[in-house]
Amino acid sequence: MAELTDLTVAEAAAKIAAGEISADEYGDAWRAAAAADELNAYLWTAEHGGEGEPDWTGAGESAPEGEGESTPYGANPPAPADSGPLAGVPIAIKDIFTTQGIPTTAGSRILEGYRPPYTATAVNKLTAAGALVLGKTNMDEFAMGSSNENSGYGPVLNPWDRGRVPGGSSGGSAAAVAGGLAPAALGTDTGGSIRQPASLCGIVGLKPTYGAISRFGMIAFASSLDQCGPLTRDVTDAALLLGVMQGKDPRDSTSVGIEGGIELPSREDLAGLRFGVPRELGEAALDPGVRAVFEATVARIEELGGEIAEIALPNAEHGISAYYVIAPAEASSNLARYDGVRYGKRAGGDGDLIEMYEATRSEYFGAEVKRRIMLGTYALSSGYYDAYYGQAQKVRTRISQDFGAAFGEVDFVITPTSPSVAFGLGEKTADPMSMYLNDFFTVPMSLAGIPAIAIPAGLAAPEGAGADAPKLPVGFQIAAPAFAEQKLLEAAHALEGALGFAAAVGDDAPWKGGSRG
Ligand code: GLN
Repeated sequence: MAELTDLTVAEAAAKIAAGEISADEYGDAWRAAAAADELNAYLWTAEHGGEGEPDWTGAGESAPEGEGESTPYGANPPAPADSGPLAGVPIAIKDIFTTQGIPTTAGSRILEGYRPPYTATAVNKLTAAGALVLGKTNMDEFAMGSSNENSGYGPVLNPWDRGRVPGGSSGGSAAAVAGGLAPAALGTDTGGSIRQPASLCGIVGLKPTYGAISRFGMIAFASSLDQCGPLTRDVTDAALLLGVMQGKDPRDSTSVGIEGGIELPSREDLAGLRFGVPRELGEAALDPGVRAVFEATVARIEELGGEIAEIALPNAEHGISAYYVIAPAEASSNLARYDGVRYGKRAGGDGDLIEMYEATRSEYFGAEVKRRIMLGTYALSSGYYDAYYGQAQKVRTRISQDFGAAFGEVDFVITPTSPSVAFGLGEKTADPMSMYLNDFFTVPMSLAGIPAIAIPAGLAAPEGAGADAPKLPVGFQIAAPAFAEQKLLEAAHALEGALGFAAAVGDDAPWKGGSRG
């Protein structure tokens, strides 16, 4: 069994298609692995299926009127296809994606017990390609966070060291893949929530171009930034999942898809490609261990024939400030719908309507969500709108222009993914600013709407820890122009092969059962 779960998604799918392994045995192995979750990575797993519960295929026994029936939201999810590029592959889904009949909470108590009447397009595309829903993964409430400590259902533990955070907000998805509890997972990234947890857990995380994958059925945080993407063990699997999920969706008018689709990457060198290192990186606050891995990776790029150039992103340093106006502003509007009437839980109810709204939102929203709603409504209020929201939008435009200018000179922009390795549980919860700075390197790409991938590049000891302290994964980020995903995946594939991270970690990898307690 252990060997089955060692396969990548691409390998397993090929073996299932060739009849070399049985889809049932493969699915059972993963179902057992997910059920044995000790990381609080899952909020619901297929194993929980039973009387009155939908089955784990995601087809949903509680589908209103049978499969394929048209609802106001479109067709009910089809049962997983028998054939297709993902036939027989179970995938963990961040609990922000609606899954018909399967509990969906977005990590919030306000949605406890909510069973959506329809399934997100990204999930439907996976099941139409033969994938199965393995479980729903824990996350920061409404995707607000960088450590997964903002979940209404408790924090997720990092499989490399259970005293540390897995990153957030897709922390459950990252921990599930890194911890050997899922072969691959879906996440969402608004300001870094796929790339940062992938980095802290030593796996691959891809945030595609805004609009590459439909947002239909993805519970909204900040609609102009939210984007779905895969968390996988390698770049090939990221390409496989992106290829299946991308596309224009009539139910999301901002979706466009990727012209020509996505092929599995095969490139092994970087000859003729130019990589831009932001000049501003020199002054950035960065752990020495992370900087050392970044520099070693840059040297690897040169060995592979890639050219390194200095570029300028002069406005990137204002990314966090702009993001923490724009994202909360959009969130304050998106979260207005949780009022105790239309979705999920209700508190109070003896007084008038307003009292009921207030009681419900006070009781079931967590502290970070409340902070964001206050920030957002303040920034949008008359008298402050231009000074905050309008100004932040101008910064956003400047950051996009910086990338545009950089891509006139280079093919890619490279940075570390996160300024540090995984930090301790509770270490940053009292200081929202230091938590927000986790996304210093990932937020600019989100504001610009461009694709970026995080790949594991090495290990480093946490800052301040002794030289022989256990080392933790360090991610490397590559960003590309909008819709240049194929080129991005090819470059990441070549670099991944040269870095050989998974091989170097060997049996110490948590997905092979290694853990530091
Ligand atoms: N950490 C950032 C935030 O808290 C980004 C989250 C995300 O990408 N969903 O908003």
